[in-house]
Amino acid sequence: MNDYTDKEHPPIPEIRRIGVIGAGQMGGGIAEVAAAAGFSVRLVDVSDAKLDAAKARIENLLERGVRKGHITGADKAEALARIDAGTSIEALGDCDLVIEAATEREDLKKKIFKDLVPHLKPDALLASNTSSISITRLAAQTDRPGRFIGIHFMNPVPAMKLVELIRGIATDEDTFQAVKSLSERLGKTPVTAEDFPAFIVNRILLPMINEAVYTLYEGVGTVESIDTAMKLGANHPMGPLELADFIGLDTCLSVMQVLYEGLADSKYRPCPLLVKYVEAGWLGCKVKRGFYDYRGEVPVPTR
Ligand code: NAD
Repeated sequence: MNDYTDKEHPPIPEIRRIGVIGAGQMGGGIAEVAAAAGFSVRLVDVSDAKLDAAKARIENLLERGVRKGHITGADKAEALARIDAGTSIEALGDCDLVIEAATEREDLKKKIFKDLVPHLKPDALLASNTSSISITRLAAQTDRPGRFIGIHFMNPVPAMKLVELIRGIATDEDTFQAVKSLSERLGKTPVTAEDFPAFIVNRILLPMINEAVYTLYEGVGTVESIDTAMKLGANHPMGPLELADFIGLDTCLSVMQVLYEGLADSKYRPCPLLVKYVEAGWLGCKVKRGFYDYRGEVPVPTR
Protein backbone atom coordinates (compact mmCIF):
# COMPACT_ATOMS: atom_id res chain seq x y z
CA MET A 1 0.00 0.00 0.00
CA ASN A 2 1.23 3.49 -0.80
CA ASP A 3 1.30 6.05 1.98
CA TYR A 4 -0.45 9.12 0.61
CA THR A 5 0.24 11.21 3.67
CA ASP A 6 3.73 12.04 2.44
CA LYS A 7 4.46 14.97 0.13
CA GLU A 8 5.01 12.82 -2.93
CA HIS A 9 1.60 11.19 -2.61
CA PRO A 10 -0.81 13.80 -1.27
CA PRO A 11 -4.26 12.59 -0.26
CA ILE A 12 -7.13 12.58 -2.76
CA PRO A 13 -8.60 16.09 -2.88
CA GLU A 14 -12.27 16.80 -2.32
CA ILE A 15 -13.49 17.33 -5.88
CA ARG A 16 -14.97 20.82 -6.23
CA ARG A 17 -13.48 22.20 -9.44
CA ILE A 18 -13.36 20.09 -12.59
CA GLY A 19 -11.31 20.95 -15.68
CA VAL A 20 -12.44 19.69 -19.09
CA ILE A 21 -10.09 19.73 -22.08
CA GLY A 22 -11.88 19.76 -25.46
CA ALA A 23 -15.18 21.58 -26.00
CA GLY A 24 -16.59 19.26 -28.67
CA GLN A 25 -19.66 17.05 -28.39
CA MET A 26 -18.31 15.20 -25.36
CA GLY A 27 -16.40 17.95 -23.51
CA GLY A 28 -19.39 20.29 -23.76
CA GLY A 29 -21.69 17.57 -22.41
CA ILE A 30 -19.34 16.72 -19.53
CA ALA A 31 -19.07 20.42 -18.63
CA GLU A 32 -22.86 20.78 -18.64
CA VAL A 33 -23.49 17.72 -16.47
CA ALA A 34 -20.75 18.70 -13.99
CA ALA A 35 -21.99 22.31 -13.72
CA ALA A 36 -25.60 21.14 -13.30
CA ALA A 37 -24.44 18.85 -10.46
CA GLY A 38 -22.93 21.84 -8.63
CA PHE A 39 -19.24 21.63 -9.61
CA SER A 40 -17.18 24.60 -10.81
CA VAL A 41 -16.01 23.84 -14.33
CA ARG A 42 -13.13 25.14 -16.42
CA LEU A 43 -13.59 24.25 -20.08
CA VAL A 44 -10.52 24.57 -22.33
CA ASP A 45 -10.20 24.18 -26.11
CA VAL A 46 -7.69 25.36 -28.71
CA SER A 47 -10.54 26.84 -30.74
CA ASP A 48 -12.54 29.90 -29.66
CA ALA A 49 -15.22 28.93 -32.18
CA LYS A 50 -15.62 25.50 -30.50
CA LEU A 51 -15.83 27.15 -27.07
CA ASP A 52 -18.53 29.57 -28.29
CA ALA A 53 -20.48 26.74 -29.91
CA ALA A 54 -20.21 24.62 -26.74
CA LYS A 55 -21.45 27.48 -24.54
CA ALA A 56 -24.42 28.07 -26.88
CA ARG A 57 -25.22 24.32 -26.90
CA ILE A 58 -25.04 24.10 -23.09
CA GLU A 59 -27.32 27.11 -22.73
CA ASN A 60 -29.87 25.60 -25.17
CA LEU A 61 -29.88 22.26 -23.37
CA LEU A 62 -30.32 23.89 -19.96
CA GLU A 63 -33.12 26.04 -21.40
CA ARG A 64 -34.80 22.87 -22.65
CA GLY A 65 -34.56 21.53 -19.07
CA VAL A 66 -36.31 24.69 -17.83
CA ARG A 67 -39.08 24.36 -20.45
CA LYS A 68 -39.64 20.73 -19.45
CA GLY A 69 -39.81 21.70 -15.78
CA HIS A 70 -36.71 19.64 -14.82
CA ILE A 71 -34.82 22.69 -13.52
CA THR A 72 -35.73 26.30 -12.69
CA GLY A 73 -34.51 29.41 -14.50
CA ALA A 74 -32.34 30.14 -11.46
CA ASP A 75 -30.77 26.64 -11.64
CA LYS A 76 -29.93 27.30 -15.28
CA ALA A 77 -28.34 30.68 -14.54
CA GLU A 78 -26.32 29.23 -11.64
CA ALA A 79 -25.09 26.27 -13.73
CA LEU A 80 -23.99 28.61 -16.54
CA ALA A 81 -22.22 30.89 -14.05
CA ARG A 82 -20.23 27.88 -12.78
CA ILE A 83 -18.64 27.33 -16.24
CA ASP A 84 -15.52 29.24 -17.16
CA ALA A 85 -14.29 28.79 -20.76
CA GLY A 86 -10.96 29.72 -22.33
CA THR A 87 -8.01 28.62 -24.45
CA SER A 88 -5.30 28.53 -21.77
CA ILE A 89 -4.37 25.16 -20.30
CA GLU A 90 -2.72 27.02 -17.39
CA ALA A 91 -6.21 27.93 -16.15
CA LEU A 92 -6.57 24.27 -15.07
CA GLY A 93 -3.97 24.75 -12.33
CA ASP A 94 -6.58 25.01 -9.57
CA CYS A 95 -8.69 22.02 -10.65
CA ASP A 96 -9.10 18.96 -8.40
CA LEU A 97 -9.77 16.75 -11.41
CA VAL A 98 -9.04 17.33 -15.09
CA ILE A 99 -10.94 15.26 -17.68
CA GLU A 100 -9.40 15.23 -21.16
CA ALA A 101 -12.02 15.00 -23.95
CA ALA A 102 -10.05 16.21 -26.98
CA THR A 103 -9.92 14.63 -30.45
CA GLU A 104 -9.35 10.85 -30.47
CA ARG A 105 -5.65 10.86 -31.46
CA GLU A 106 -3.03 9.34 -29.21
CA ASP A 107 -0.22 11.75 -30.17
CA LEU A 108 -2.47 14.74 -29.48
CA LYS A 109 -3.66 13.39 -26.12
CA LYS A 110 -0.10 12.57 -25.02
CA LYS A 111 1.02 16.12 -25.84
CA ILE A 112 -1.95 17.59 -23.94
CA PHE A 113 -1.02 15.63 -20.79
CA LYS A 114 2.68 16.54 -21.11
CA ASP A 115 1.79 20.25 -21.44
CA LEU A 116 -0.77 20.09 -18.63
CA VAL A 117 1.25 18.38 -15.89
CA PRO A 118 3.53 21.33 -14.93
CA HIS A 119 0.45 23.47 -14.18
CA LEU A 120 -1.42 20.96 -11.99
CA LYS A 121 -1.89 21.03 -8.22
CA PRO A 122 0.18 18.19 -6.68
CA ASP A 123 -2.97 16.36 -5.54
CA ALA A 124 -5.01 16.80 -8.75
CA LEU A 125 -6.56 13.72 -10.35
CA LEU A 126 -6.35 13.15 -14.10
CA ALA A 127 -8.76 11.36 -16.42
CA SER A 128 -9.26 10.72 -20.11
CA ASN A 129 -12.61 10.27 -21.85
CA THR A 130 -10.92 8.34 -24.66
CA SER A 131 -13.12 5.81 -26.45
CA SER A 132 -10.35 3.36 -27.11
CA ILE A 133 -6.78 4.43 -26.32
CA SER A 134 -4.76 2.70 -23.58
CA ILE A 135 -5.17 4.45 -20.22
CA THR A 136 -1.86 2.94 -19.09
CA ARG A 137 0.00 4.54 -22.04
CA LEU A 138 -1.63 7.96 -21.51
CA ALA A 139 -0.97 7.80 -17.75
CA ALA A 140 2.71 7.09 -18.43
CA GLN A 141 3.01 10.58 -20.01
CA THR A 142 2.27 12.14 -16.63
CA ASP A 143 3.98 12.44 -13.25
CA ARG A 144 1.04 10.64 -11.52
CA PRO A 145 -0.03 7.34 -13.11
CA GLY A 146 -1.56 6.35 -9.74
CA ARG A 147 -3.86 9.34 -9.96
CA PHE A 148 -4.85 8.72 -13.58
CA ILE A 149 -7.99 6.89 -14.75
CA GLY A 150 -10.29 6.46 -17.75
CA ILE A 151 -13.79 7.95 -17.42
CA HIS A 152 -15.64 7.06 -20.59
CA PHE A 153 -18.91 8.97 -20.85
CA MET A 154 -21.45 8.09 -23.53
CA ASN A 155 -22.88 10.46 -26.14
CA PRO A 156 -25.01 12.55 -25.49
CA VAL A 157 -23.56 12.92 -22.00
CA PRO A 158 -26.62 14.48 -20.30
CA ALA A 159 -28.94 11.71 -21.56
CA MET A 160 -26.82 8.57 -21.29
CA LYS A 161 -26.68 6.86 -17.91
CA LEU A 162 -23.49 4.82 -18.32
CA VAL A 163 -19.87 5.64 -17.63
CA GLU A 164 -17.11 3.08 -18.08
CA LEU A 165 -14.32 3.43 -15.51
CA ILE A 166 -10.99 2.09 -16.72
CA ARG A 167 -8.04 1.57 -14.41
CA GLY A 168 -4.59 1.78 -15.92
CA ILE A 169 -2.01 -0.67 -14.63
CA ALA A 170 -0.89 1.87 -12.00
CA THR A 171 -4.24 3.44 -11.03
CA ASP A 172 -4.61 3.53 -7.24
CA GLU A 173 -7.68 2.11 -5.54
CA ASP A 174 -8.48 5.45 -3.86
CA THR A 175 -8.37 7.19 -7.27
CA PHE A 176 -10.85 4.62 -8.56
CA GLN A 177 -13.14 5.01 -5.53
CA ALA A 178 -13.06 8.84 -5.75
CA VAL A 179 -14.00 8.79 -9.44
CA LYS A 180 -16.67 6.12 -8.89
CA SER A 181 -18.40 8.25 -6.29
CA LEU A 182 -18.01 11.33 -8.53
CA SER A 183 -19.72 9.54 -11.42
CA GLU A 184 -22.62 8.67 -9.10
CA ARG A 185 -22.87 12.34 -8.04
CA LEU A 186 -23.13 13.17 -11.75
CA GLY A 187 -26.15 10.84 -11.93
CA LYS A 188 -24.34 8.09 -13.85
CA THR A 189 -24.09 4.36 -13.36
CA PRO A 190 -20.45 3.22 -13.51
CA VAL A 191 -19.25 -0.11 -14.88
CA THR A 192 -15.63 -1.17 -14.64
CA ALA A 193 -13.74 -2.17 -17.78
CA GLU A 194 -10.21 -3.49 -18.06
CA ASP A 195 -7.64 -1.46 -19.99
CA PHE A 196 -7.83 -3.27 -23.33
CA PRO A 197 -8.49 -1.58 -26.69
CA ALA A 198 -11.91 0.14 -26.83
CA PHE A 199 -12.95 -1.26 -23.39
CA ILE A 200 -16.48 -2.80 -23.37
CA VAL A 201 -19.06 -0.67 -25.21
CA ASN A 202 -16.93 0.25 -28.20
CA ARG A 203 -15.31 -3.18 -28.44
CA ILE A 204 -18.79 -4.47 -29.23
CA LEU A 205 -20.45 -1.45 -30.89
CA LEU A 206 -17.78 -0.24 -33.32
CA PRO A 207 -17.18 -3.57 -35.10
CA MET A 208 -20.95 -3.65 -35.70
CA ILE A 209 -20.88 -0.13 -37.16
CA ASN A 210 -17.80 -1.03 -39.28
CA GLU A 211 -19.65 -4.10 -40.55
CA ALA A 212 -22.62 -1.90 -41.49
CA VAL A 213 -20.23 0.28 -43.54
CA TYR A 214 -18.87 -2.91 -45.24
CA THR A 215 -22.47 -3.91 -45.96
CA LEU A 216 -22.92 -0.55 -47.70
CA TYR A 217 -19.48 -0.76 -49.42
CA GLU A 218 -20.25 -4.19 -50.86
CA GLY A 219 -23.66 -3.03 -52.09
CA VAL A 220 -25.62 -5.44 -49.93
CA GLY A 221 -27.91 -2.57 -48.94
CA THR A 222 -28.34 1.19 -49.22
CA VAL A 223 -27.87 3.58 -46.28
CA GLU A 224 -31.62 3.61 -45.80
CA SER A 225 -32.17 -0.15 -46.07
CA ILE A 226 -29.30 -0.93 -43.66
CA ASP A 227 -30.56 1.50 -41.02
CA THR A 228 -34.20 0.45 -41.43
CA ALA A 229 -33.22 -3.23 -41.26
CA MET A 230 -31.39 -2.80 -37.95
CA LYS A 231 -34.06 -0.56 -36.42
CA LEU A 232 -37.00 -2.80 -37.30
CA GLY A 233 -35.17 -6.14 -37.42
CA ALA A 234 -32.95 -5.88 -34.35
CA ASN A 235 -34.99 -3.27 -32.45
CA HIS A 236 -32.11 -0.79 -32.32
CA PRO A 237 -33.30 2.77 -31.59
CA MET A 238 -30.93 4.15 -34.26
CA GLY A 239 -29.56 2.50 -37.40
CA PRO A 240 -25.79 1.81 -37.35
CA LEU A 241 -24.98 4.40 -40.06
CA GLU A 242 -27.10 7.04 -38.37
CA LEU A 243 -25.33 6.19 -35.12
CA ALA A 244 -21.91 6.43 -36.84
CA ASP A 245 -22.79 9.98 -37.99
CA PHE A 246 -23.86 10.79 -34.45
CA ILE A 247 -20.62 9.50 -32.90
CA GLY A 248 -18.44 11.18 -35.57
CA LEU A 249 -16.86 9.17 -38.42
CA ASP A 250 -13.35 10.32 -37.42
CA THR A 251 -13.90 8.92 -33.93
CA CYS A 252 -15.33 5.67 -35.38
CA LEU A 253 -12.28 5.28 -37.64
CA SER A 254 -9.85 5.98 -34.78
CA VAL A 255 -11.51 3.38 -32.58
CA MET A 256 -11.34 0.76 -35.38
CA GLN A 257 -7.64 1.57 -35.91
CA VAL A 258 -6.97 1.14 -32.19
CA LEU A 259 -8.80 -2.22 -32.21
CA TYR A 260 -7.01 -3.36 -35.38
CA GLU A 261 -3.55 -2.42 -34.16
CA GLY A 262 -4.10 -3.16 -30.47
CA LEU A 263 -5.54 -6.64 -30.94
CA ALA A 264 -3.60 -7.44 -34.14
CA ASP A 265 -6.60 -9.18 -35.65
CA SER A 266 -7.68 -8.57 -39.25
CA LYS A 267 -11.35 -8.85 -38.30
CA TYR A 268 -11.10 -5.26 -37.02
CA ARG A 269 -9.76 -3.72 -40.27
CA PRO A 270 -11.52 -0.38 -40.90
CA CYS A 271 -13.77 -0.42 -43.99
CA PRO A 272 -12.17 1.55 -46.88
CA LEU A 273 -15.46 3.42 -47.33
CA LEU A 274 -15.27 4.71 -43.74
CA VAL A 275 -11.73 5.90 -44.48
CA LYS A 276 -12.97 7.65 -47.63
CA TYR A 277 -15.72 9.54 -45.79
CA VAL A 278 -13.21 10.73 -43.19
CA GLU A 279 -10.72 11.77 -45.90
CA ALA A 280 -13.52 13.79 -47.53
CA GLY A 281 -14.15 15.57 -44.21
CA TRP A 282 -17.67 14.09 -44.13
CA LEU A 283 -17.47 13.38 -40.41
CA GLY A 284 -21.18 13.10 -39.64
CA CYS A 285 -23.61 15.31 -37.68
CA LYS A 286 -20.93 17.63 -36.31
CA VAL A 287 -20.15 18.91 -39.84
CA LYS A 288 -23.70 18.28 -41.14
CA ARG A 289 -22.62 15.57 -43.60
CA GLY A 290 -21.71 11.92 -43.29
CA PHE A 291 -23.75 8.88 -44.34
CA TYR A 292 -26.60 11.41 -44.36
CA ASP A 293 -26.65 15.07 -45.44
CA TYR A 294 -28.13 17.13 -42.60
CA ARG A 295 -28.09 20.53 -44.27
CA GLY A 296 -31.76 20.49 -45.31
CA GLU A 297 -35.03 19.97 -43.42
CA VAL A 298 -34.67 16.19 -43.27
CA PRO A 299 -31.53 14.01 -43.42
CA VAL A 300 -30.87 12.71 -46.95
CA PRO A 301 -28.70 9.57 -47.48
CA THR A 302 -25.43 10.36 -49.28
CA ARG A 303 -25.28 6.92 -50.99
P1 NAD B 1 -15.15 16.49 -31.20
O1 NAD B 1 -14.46 16.44 -32.53
O2 NAD B 1 -16.58 16.91 -31.14
O3 NAD B 1 -14.34 17.46 -30.20
C1 NAD B 1 -12.97 17.40 -29.99
C2 NAD B 1 -12.53 18.77 -29.47
O4 NAD B 1 -11.16 18.70 -29.07
C3 NAD B 1 -12.64 19.88 -30.53
O5 NAD B 1 -13.45 20.94 -30.03
C4 NAD B 1 -11.19 20.31 -30.73
O6 NAD B 1 -11.05 21.70 -31.02
C5 NAD B 1 -10.59 19.96 -29.36
N1 NAD B 1 -9.14 19.87 -29.36
C6 NAD B 1 -8.32 19.35 -30.30
N2 NAD B 1 -7.03 19.48 -29.90
C7 NAD B 1 -7.03 20.09 -28.68
C8 NAD B 1 -6.03 20.50 -27.77
N3 NAD B 1 -4.75 20.31 -28.02
N4 NAD B 1 -6.41 21.10 -26.62
C9 NAD B 1 -7.72 21.32 -26.35
N5 NAD B 1 -8.72 20.95 -27.18
C10 NAD B 1 -8.39 20.34 -28.33
O7 NAD B 1 -14.94 15.03 -30.55
P2 NAD B 1 -15.83 14.32 -29.41
O8 NAD B 1 -16.85 13.47 -30.07
O9 NAD B 1 -16.23 15.33 -28.39
O10 NAD B 1 -14.74 13.33 -28.80
C11 NAD B 1 -13.82 13.75 -27.82
C12 NAD B 1 -13.28 12.56 -27.07
O11 NAD B 1 -14.38 11.85 -26.47
C13 NAD B 1 -12.54 11.54 -27.93
O12 NAD B 1 -11.50 10.98 -27.19
C14 NAD B 1 -13.62 10.51 -28.23
O13 NAD B 1 -13.10 9.25 -28.52
C15 NAD B 1 -14.36 10.50 -26.91
N6 NAD B 1 -15.75 10.00 -26.97
C16 NAD B 1 -16.54 10.30 -28.03
C17 NAD B 1 -17.84 9.80 -28.07
C18 NAD B 1 -18.76 10.12 -29.24
O14 NAD B 1 -19.80 9.46 -29.38
N7 NAD B 1 -18.44 11.10 -30.06
C19 NAD B 1 -18.34 9.02 -27.02
C20 NAD B 1 -17.51 8.77 -25.92
C21 NAD B 1 -16.21 9.26 -25.91
